[in-house]
Amino acid sequence: MPELQTVRPATTPAVSPRLIGAAAGVVAFMLLITYLVAFDQGAVSQSGMYLHELMHDGRHLLGVPCH
Ligand SMILES: [Zn+2]
Repeated sequence: MPELQTVRPATTPAVSPRLIGAAAGVVAFMLLITYLVAFDQGAVSQSGMYLHELMHDGRHLLGVPCH
């Protein structure tokens, strides 16, 4: 009688898809915050210069060219 090979179940990935999704969300959020702090001039946010003025000290603290 031939020996039957057992089929092993697929191993679970080391990093769960849920964790990858959460990490992607955090990265997207941080990119949005970075954009709003460093680069927003009101064209995308439609806030005029409000966000620019609000984040102005932060821009200078981070060394982002401003004026
Ligand atoms: Zn400035």
